[in-house]
Amino acid sequence: MEGVFPVLIRDLITHTAILTSFLFIAGQIFRNHPTDLNVYTRLFTGLTAGVLGTLLMVFYSIPVDGQLLLDFRFFAVLLAAMYGGMSASFLSASIINAARIAIYGWSFTTMTAVAALYMIAAICTLIAKAKLNRLMKAVLMNFSTVAVVMIAYYTVLQDRGQLLKLYQLILLVGLPSGFFLTYVADYIKRSNIQFHNLKNISSKDYLTGLNNVRRFDELLNTSVRRALKTRKNLSMLLIDLDYFKRVNDTYGHPAGDAVLKQTARLLELQSRDKEEVSRNGGEEFSIVLYNCNLQSAAALAEKIRRAIEEEPFVLPDGTVIRLTASIGAACYPENTETTALLYETADQGLYAAKRTGRNRVEYLGAEKTAMNHT
Ligand code: GH3
Ligand code: MG
Ligand code: MG
Repeated sequence: MEGVFPVLIRDLITHTAILTSFLFIAGQIFRNHPTDLNVYTRLFTGLTAGVLGTLLMVFYSIPVDGQLLLDFRFFAVLLAAMYGGMSASFLSASIINAARIAIYGWSFTTMTAVAALYMIAAICTLIAKAKLNRLMKAVLMNFSTVAVVMIAYYTVLQDRGQLLKLYQLILLVGLPSGFFLTYVADYIKRSNIQFHNLKNISSKDYLTGLNNVRRFDELLNTSVRRALKTRKNLSMLLIDLDYFKRVNDTYGHPAGDAVLKQTARLLELQSRDKEEVSRNGGEEFSIVLYNCNLQSAAALAEKIRRAIEEEPFVLPDGTVIRLTASIGAACYPENTETTALLYETADQGLYAAKRTGRNRVEYLGAEKTAMNHT
């Protein structure tokens, strides 16, 4: 550790900056799934933290004395524990340790470094699992990580003057850097969660979780653009429950809500892709079908009509009721001259289905009785 103090501080600040940019990239990767930690995201977190820690050790570490190095690889393990749990922290520690042994060979110093990193992985995993608030976890993780590092240097470094200089560096730069990194990681995670929530609020129907009208409009617009560009068909179904008002009137509004939720699940199950299904208001639903001709759209409509007819709708009090739905179908360019008329044509079909007795599928400009249920 020949370098003058300010230079060493500058080097360690570089480590913090590298770790910070890593956190930013990790945040972008997990942006759409900030909370679902499955085995893959855990392993991915551990792998990236391991590679990052290795890079810090190999390219940026400050040689202290012989094989003794100073870098911030231990913060990569801390962050892995915080966000990926035990598997991530131990994976990252193992990667860094394997690299350490491969590059620098076995020695007392290497073994101490290896043990210290596993110790940090274990302690941080325990703290991450503990029932503590986020701030408390960050404080405990940072202090214990720094403590383990200081003990490790104490074990291997004979020169007490050097040791003192190292301690100063660790306390002066390491500790604040650790707090800064855990703060940044926490900030990114919180803003991802908020982003996720806002996206949900603005695109999902509160009751059923289907697309709301706003998202439906977006979906229709992008589907229209896509269909025109690729010269494919674009179909749409409008589905309206028959005599739904009676459910509310007879069993109450919560019973009506339960029926709407169950209808939503049924439609998701029947459709090709649940992204296509929207609740357009009240008890009216829609399905937008890109690259689907009128015949296939009508066939799907008929399948849905029958599924609703056969569905036992379970009310909150356990009562089972039967319902039917009327469906209007439209397809550009088969029975719609312009894409702008798609919704209107489907709506006219729906109206025709209602007028001619309900529990039917109707679409204009084609064999009117072809798909009708009688
Ligand atoms: P039709 O066969 O002609 O479609 O008759 P309908 O009773 O299904 O249709 P109408 O449009 O007369 O009534 C729809 C009812 O849907 C009226 C409204 O109280 C109810 N409704 C709308 N939104 C909700 C909701 O979010 N929850 C519940 N429980 N009911 C709703
Ligand atoms: Mg209705
Ligand atoms: Mg209606």
